[in-house]
Parts: sequence; C-alpha cells; structure tokens
Amino acid sequence: QSTSPIVVVANRLPFCLGTNPETGQLVRKQCAGGLVTAVAPVVVETQGLWVGWSGLHLEDNNVAIPEADPNDQTPTAGLKSNQVLPVNVPKKLFDDYYNGCCNATFWPLFHSMPDRATFQADKWDAYRQMNAEFARLTVEAVKRLSETHPGEVPLVWLHDYHMMLAANTIREKCDELNLPIKMAFFLHIPFPSWDIVRLFPWDDELLQGILGCDSIGFHIEDYCLNFIDCCQRRLGCRVDRQQMLVEHNSRTVSINPLPISIPYERFVQLAEKAPQVVKNNLHEQLLLAVDRLDYTKGLVHRIKAFETLLQKHPEQIEHVTFLQVAVPSRTDVKEYQELKEELDQIIGRINGRFSTPNWSPIRYIYGCVSQDQLAAFYRDASVAVVTPLRDGMNLVAKEFVACQTGEPGVLILSPFAGAGTSMHEALHVNPYETNEFADTIYRALTMPKDERELRMKLLRRREREYDVNFWLRSFLKTVDCLNDDNKSMA
Ligand code: UDP
Repeated sequence: QSTSPIVVVANRLPFCLGTNPETGQLVRKQCAGGLVTAVAPVVVETQGLWVGWSGLHLEDNNVAIPEADPNDQTPTAGLKSNQVLPVNVPKKLFDDYYNGCCNATFWPLFHSMPDRATFQADKWDAYRQMNAEFARLTVEAVKRLSETHPGEVPLVWLHDYHMMLAANTIREKCDELNLPIKMAFFLHIPFPSWDIVRLFPWDDELLQGILGCDSIGFHIEDYCLNFIDCCQRRLGCRVDRQQMLVEHNSRTVSINPLPISIPYERFVQLAEKAPQVVKNNLHEQLLLAVDRLDYTKGLVHRIKAFETLLQKHPEQIEHVTFLQVAVPSRTDVKEYQELKEELDQIIGRINGRFSTPNWSPIRYIYGCVSQDQLAAFYRDASVAVVTPLRDGMNLVAKEFVACQTGEPGVLILSPFAGAGTSMHEALHVNPYETNEFADTIYRALTMPKDERELRMKLLRRREREYDVNFWLRSFLKTVDCLNDDNKSMA
C-alpha cells in the first residue's frame, strides 16, 4: 500500500456538522456510507487530510471543527479536527453549484437522461468557482503536508462529479510553489457516451478538467472507453484503448476500471445477528427493493412489473409481498417530489386493486432503515429486485448477496447498473420490458433450490474476494504505477 499521505477532496466531509440543541455547540454527526468506511481509515493511517463541505453554512470562517466524541466507534473517529479542511461558502453559491449544476445537469446527463438536464451558464460558473475554492483548500492541505511530511509526495484524490474542474488549478498552483503531488480522480456515477457528453455546452473544459489528474478511475470498462472516446473526438487527444491511456498536454493519463464494492464481512456479520423479518404466513415470499427515491432507479417500472405479475399469476396473491424501501433524496427538488407523488399513487392503486382482508401486495417504507434492519431484509428476502434504468455500480445488489446467509434467494439485476457487468449469476432483465420483467420475477419466485444455491454461492464468492478493500488496494496500485515505464504510449 501507498504510504504517502492522502488528501481526499470530496463534496462532503466524512461527517456532518450539527449543533447540540442543549449546549448550542458544534458537534460531529455521522453520515458514514460505504465510501467513508473504506476511505477514512486510509486518511487516518497516512496522517492525511480531508477537504469537503461540512453540511453547514457558517458565519465564521475560522470556526473550530469539534473533535470526535470519545465514545465514537465509527471509521472517522480517528480523524483529528486538524485533519479536515471545511469548505465554507455563501449559501447561494453553494446552491447554484450543488443543486443548479451537479444535480440538475451532471446527475441526469451522466445517467444518460439528457431530457432531464438543464444547461445554464450561471450555474456552470458557480461550479467553476466552487471547484476553484476546493482547489484553493487542497493546495493549503498540500502545503501543510509539505511541512509535516517533508520529502513525501502526497496523493490528492478527487471524488466524483462535483470535482471535475479542480485538478488543473491544483496542479498549476502546486507547480508554482514547487510542491510535488500525485493526483487521481474517481467517478462514482456512470460516464456516458460521446453522443451524450457532447450535449454539454462546455464539454471541452470539462474533459480537460478531468484530464488534469494522473490517474482516472471509473467503475467499469465501458465508462473508461466512453471517456477515452470523448477525449479523442472532442479534444483530438492521442489515445491507446488497449492500455487505456490518453495523452494530453504532454502528459500521459491512465484510465482504470475500478469497480467499487462493499465491506463484505461487515454485512455478513450484520446478517448473522439481525432479527427475523415478520411475515404474514409461513409460505409468504418477500420480494425486496431498496433505493434512494431517484428517477434513475426505475421504481415505477418495477412496481408496474409487479402488478403485471399479480395479473398474470393470481395464484401468487397472498403468497408474495413486495417490500419497497425508498430513502428520501433531494426532497426540495420538484422532480423528486413529483416522483414521490407518482409512486404514492401507483402503490395505492395496486394495493387497492389486489389487497385481501389479510394481505396487501406492497409494503412501502418511505424513509431510512437501520443497517440491522436492512441486513434482516436482505437475508430474509426470497428475491431482490435491483433494476435501475441507469446506475454507476449499485451497492444494494452486492449487500443483498453478502447478507444471504440463510435460505438462498435470487437476485434480479438490470444490465444498466454497473454491477450488471460482473454479477453474471443474477437473472438479468431489461426494466423497460414490463412483460418480460414480470416473467423474470415469476421465474425467480419459483426457481428450484439447487439452482438458487449454485447461483448465490458463485455471486457471494465473487463479492467476498472483490470487496471494498480490494477496490482501495487496486486504486492505490494504479497510483503507485504512475511513473511505471511500462505504461507509456507506443
Ligand atoms: N441504505 C441506507 N439506508 C437505507 C437504505 C439504503 O443506508 O435505509 C444504503 C445501502 O446500504 C447502500 C446505499 O444506501 O449502501 C445505496 O447505495 P447504491 O450504490 O445502491 O445507490 P446510491 O444511493 O449510491 O445511488
């Protein structure tokens, strides 16, 4: 593993700041997802730094970040307050960058849904300004490390679609100050094809921004090839598709497929001690879906397929229940509010149509569930239906198989999720094809035990080997290989 200190640059810090209602003091609040669990320990271990937004717009720029609570057991507990550099900007600028550009432009565009994307010059300008601010703090972080770790070359690791313009500013400033760095970028969402990217009016600036890094990671090979294609067609770069290299401004940039994953063993442990899920009757089969409530996740398509199943197979009535967990997301955005209304309506209609005195077809949780509860659902579900219209990777599919410690269930997976390219033993289905989708659910519900067992065994074996630590090690390897002479263009 790399021992150089790592500077993580992400939209959010690995914890949020909030105020203690009793004392009025600032406190850390946990918001640990899989990424934080994986990356925070490396920052702690390498005595690195984390640049990001705290979740608050503070009046005072010099406000002290609180230390972790002494009882804090989470992966960020080891992160001292002087290891985080909070970005603090006026609310309007942040909103224009975050809602106006990241969520309203890049989220739909990169998920190949251009009709939902808006392109506004002032929002793009806010994005530029915010990236300049992230870059300024990153250079501060590098300066600090040059004092605490003289002679070491820090690794600056930029995360996701919020940070696509920061690299060149960081590079120029560090060159000026004679501070050597390595720089890498990882995109957590899909990278779409050239036909989609070219719709963005400032696509050349965007591509050059990403190319400011030395190593660029996407989840899967398709996204890498899309990016390479864009660099060649839009910027005229010399590229090598075999070795996944792009030449830009006399530098050779390496592009790497790095499929992100989950802390597999942690989910196994959760599943082993999770409480039993209460069912209506012994024979009831549970069909499970877990998503953020987002238009990329295909929630409506899935529920329509379930309705078709009940219509085609009335014998399944009272024998199968569809449990949908929908985590509220971007609730202040109109499109998300409309999707929520559409879901409420369609679920109400289907429940009204098929319910019997003792059973309702759809159990719908609009909210977050605890990790223990989630593990119980994953373990006790007969079928997990992971069918996004487009998804960078999708961790739910992986968490489900990790938690399948009991009677083996079946995974139904959309080919439009990154996970679809490696989880071969799932039943794959196109979520747009409602009839076929319903037939696939039926096949999963009625699959013989030996087939379920074999498929699940192979799925679990793969996820156990290629867990999130493997992802992290693979990433660090790509960065260590930066000066590898073997990786140059012919
Ligand atoms: N999740 C959660 N609480 C819930 C439901 C889901 O923390 O009530 C987590 C889930 O365990 C998974 C993540 O949310 O790790 C969803 O990740 P995924 O890659 O599937 O989709 P994303 O939301 O990142 O688009």
